[in-house]
Amino acid sequence: MKFSKFFIPTLREAPGDAAVISHKLMLRSGMIRRLANGLFAYLPLGLRSFRKLERIIREEMDATGALEVKPTVVVPAELWKESGRWDTMGEALLRVKNRQNGDFVISPTAEEAITALVRDDLSSYKQLPLNLYQINTKYRDEVRPRYGVMRGREFVMKDAYSFHTDDASLSRTYEDMGRAYRNIFRRCGLSVIPVSADSGAMGGSGSEEFMIESEIGDNTLILCKSCEYAANVEKAACKPDFVPAGIAAAKEAAAGLPAMSRIDTPDTKSIAELCAFLKTGANKFIKTLVYQAANPSGDLLKAHIGGDMPAMLPIVALIRGDLDVNETKLASLLGASDVALAADTEVTRITGAPVGFAGPAGLNGVLIIADETVSAMTNAITGALVKDAHYQNVAFGRDFEPNIIADIRTVTANDRCPVCGGEFYEKKGNELGHIFKLACKYTKVMKVSYLDVDGKAQTPLMGCYGIGLDRTLAAVIEEHNDGAGIIWPLPLAPFEALIVPVKYEGAVKEASDNLYAELGKLGIDVLLDDRDERPGVKFNDGDLIGIPFRVVIGDKNLKAQPRRIELKRRGEDEVRLVELERAAAIIAEEARTELMSAYYAGGET
Ligand code: ATP
Ligand code: MG
Repeated sequence: MKFSKFFIPTLREAPGDAAVISHKLMLRSGMIRRLANGLFAYLPLGLRSFRKLERIIREEMDATGALEVKPTVVVPAELWKESGRWDTMGEALLRVKNRQNGDFVISPTAEEAITALVRDDLSSYKQLPLNLYQINTKYRDEVRPRYGVMRGREFVMKDAYSFHTDDASLSRTYEDMGRAYRNIFRRCGLSVIPVSADSGAMGGSGSEEFMIESEIGDNTLILCKSCEYAANVEKAACKPDFVPAGIAAAKEAAAGLPAMSRIDTPDTKSIAELCAFLKTGANKFIKTLVYQAANPSGDLLKAHIGGDMPAMLPIVALIRGDLDVNETKLASLLGASDVALAADTEVTRITGAPVGFAGPAGLNGVLIIADETVSAMTNAITGALVKDAHYQNVAFGRDFEPNIIADIRTVTANDRCPVCGGEFYEKKGNELGHIFKLACKYTKVMKVSYLDVDGKAQTPLMGCYGIGLDRTLAAVIEEHNDGAGIIWPLPLAPFEALIVPVKYEGAVKEASDNLYAELGKLGIDVLLDDRDERPGVKFNDGDLIGIPFRVVIGDKNLKAQPRRIELKRRGEDEVRLVELERAAAIIAEEARTELMSAYYAGGET
């Protein structure tokens, strides 16, 4: 490609709303442009890298035996109503009507569409396992699109959906996908951290996210200093720092303890105020929080709720006062699409007291979920369900009994590893990919079935696996840049080599054109900067757009015997003088070696 014939509108400065380096560099290098909030267009240069990423992902997916399909982006609402997500997905789901007033969604993800496709043609166990993928546009009406294509509204995802007869088969594909993902990220020059993640309301049995460390990360990762344990804080567990007791044991133990008694606590509502007032630590309190759980569905709940499950279920969560409730764990436990703290009026309705005086002792008519830490508390302080009063010496089991005891705490870096007891540390991360065992969540409600060996109808198990392409590309730039611009890893570079003629005329022009043709023949993506610009301008643009090999051709070196050119790698200082006649072969060989090593280095198959 000749620079003058291409379209690379570089910018000296990034627009003021670009806050992160990848967003700035993608705009400045002329890779993307913003059409509206969260909507970005790829210009020719950006699209070249995007296509290379697509190719890498496609190769790795195909290598696992996954099959590419191309469903539509616009999907009939009926499918989303079948799965229930028409109601639970909220405003992130973009809904449109066609001219016949029919409802449609613009796919934010494609469990429904692919499940429906498979349902129509699946008849026998012989067709399974089946893993279908697409690389296609998604739309999510994100509340706050930001950081350029990192969190856009429209983006491209590679999403795969697998179907299985049994757990072992699902696990095999899940492992294959995890391996393919690690290969993809390695080939992109990304250091990802796989962490275990929340498997949500899906009743699924496993979920792993591929995170990239980032100051602007939306996720908190909890990692062990001594072993491999790594988890999203939404999911992280820890070694218990308490001795748990069952209800019966707790009752027995509490029998001989001082009785619960009421104390006046005027104008003290927060735990901090109470600690100061009662001169005690936060860990002596039982924090009592009222939540609203949206669309609860878990089997666990069915044992406690008679009749139909309400769309909105108030519940009370208890946790030791020095800890916080993890709302993702809580939602997951309840099979809810969301949990949120209840409004003050609702708190008063349920507890009979103003906010700040809730407690489990004497609380009736609401489902109570206690964190495991609470089951070890024998002389706790809690709200007394009336204004300006608390109870002390409250004992778990004796003075109150929760309906459910579970791990709902938010783990912090101060906790200890559940696997080895080691110390934790914390990182901020951005999610690039996510693999997920869905079990029967969609296949059951959408009534997919196949006939097993005995001719009996069965529901297939399902897994889903997603990678965001735009976000991955941005993450590569976040990890590979310097003050001058992008430093593309070779596999994703829009062009692999840049030829800069000092002045594009005479012998220099001839040598440049020849080298350009030769590199092209050797399969190198080459850009020839044929513009009538000063070399400094061309160097700056070359550095900004991050082309890995730079060849400078000037009169002086051409006059040497043998004729020479300057060869420099982006990101390195060294400038090599290379014979003109050998330049193409040297570049092609170095590029080939590097691409192969990106492909194979530690590659998992
Ligand atoms: P996040 O928590 O960041 O919103 P998610 O968990 O909703 O992401 P998934 O549904 O797991 O995302 O989607 C799979 C992948 O799609 C993500 O790992 C990410 O790479 C990409 N992705 C999701 N939302 C966006 C977005 N708004 N812009 C760009 N990429 C996105
Ligand atoms: Mg995710």
